[in-house]
Amino acid sequence: MTGNSLDRHMPLYAQRTAGMRASAVRSLFAVANRPEVVSLAGGMPYLASLPLEQLSAEVGRLVAEDGLVALQYGSGQGIAELREQICQVMALEGISAHPDDVTVTVGSQMALDLVTRVFCDPGDVILAEAPSYVGALTTFTAYQADVVHIAMDDHGLIPEAVAAAIVAVRESGRRIKFLYTIPNFHNPAGVTMSDERRVEIARICRDAGVPILEDNPYGLLGFDDKVHRAIRADDAENVIYLGSFSKTFAPGLRVGWVLAPHAVREKIVLANEGSTLNPPVFNQMVVSRYLSNFDWQSQVKAYRHTYAERRDAMIGALRTHMPEGTTWTYPEGGFYVWVTLPEGFDAAAMLPRAVTARVAYVPGTAFYSDGFGSRQMRLSFCYPTPERIVEGVRRLAGVLENELEV
Ligand code: PMP
Repeated sequence: MTGNSLDRHMPLYAQRTAGMRASAVRSLFAVANRPEVVSLAGGMPYLASLPLEQLSAEVGRLVAEDGLVALQYGSGQGIAELREQICQVMALEGISAHPDDVTVTVGSQMALDLVTRVFCDPGDVILAEAPSYVGALTTFTAYQADVVHIAMDDHGLIPEAVAAAIVAVRESGRRIKFLYTIPNFHNPAGVTMSDERRVEIARICRDAGVPILEDNPYGLLGFDDKVHRAIRADDAENVIYLGSFSKTFAPGLRVGWVLAPHAVREKIVLANEGSTLNPPVFNQMVVSRYLSNFDWQSQVKAYRHTYAERRDAMIGALRTHMPEGTTWTYPEGGFYVWVTLPEGFDAAAMLPRAVTARVAYVPGTAFYSDGFGSRQMRLSFCYPTPERIVEGVRRLAGVLENELEV
């Protein structure tokens, strides 16, 4: 039994827990994970091309050669060698950074938590794309910050809408703490911010004194092999950058990072120490050895190839099967397609029927803090094979057809 009425600790909980709600779709996802269901819902990377045997040998050597360091407590900022390597990874996106400004975190999710903790009091405003990453919204809500969504189109956030939102929020007497953006291969929208807009939005935010939180876990997963210049590359003072090895290597290691201006970095390290003492040394050393001793860039290329094939399968199936009036984005990288259904459909209400028809997706409302997105859904193409993707979209189209008949 989990009913709230039986929770005798309820009166003791902090106010911030009021915003912590289990997602309405969580119970359905238990069903969605059954093998007969094609899940277009999760964002799990497809790891089968990892060189497991060599990795196993490398991990064995790590324990044999460096075990007493790897298994010991470490620094709250993360190990120096990995922070240097992270700077080399970020250089691929035009970023020039000092390892001392990097803090290693337990995935970039932890970095989102730390930055929010350092910046936000209850009632503060965070600007974010409409829609935005559900895990970030969950964190922002946990710190009782209010999210104000800003319109985006196929080229990412709209600069005029950013400028207008800054004015409107300030006129309403509220404080903006930062603009949260996912410029590359957006989760969930699947779009990428144009280079011109990056420059324009960086200028607007700098002039207005609004820091940018640039979240970039998918940046190296562009299907045309193009790597976009990070917003942080041209503004070291006003941009806090989040990176991750979850999509370029393996999410199970939970190694991500935050690059922040020096003074902010000091606060972030203190917050990190308060949460974890230090990020796991063992996992950091596995990532560090992987970067040094493996052809990690070829592995990323293999991932790109796999995901590009799956994107093509999904887009092809959408074109073939979706009813008239349905639209979707065309991702040039990453994991996700954002689908808008014709007028009258409700993607959240439809989900149980979709799961009965053995296909799952995430309803659009999960990606807004304000109830929008009912006609939208996120479809991910990262995990199922191309054949399963096609079958999943076919099943989804069948569900939509049935809805029309009801
Ligand atoms: N940001 C975005 C936009 C994501 O999609 C994800 C993972 N789905 C994360 C952050 C968190 O990634 P991790 O904690 O695994 O680094």
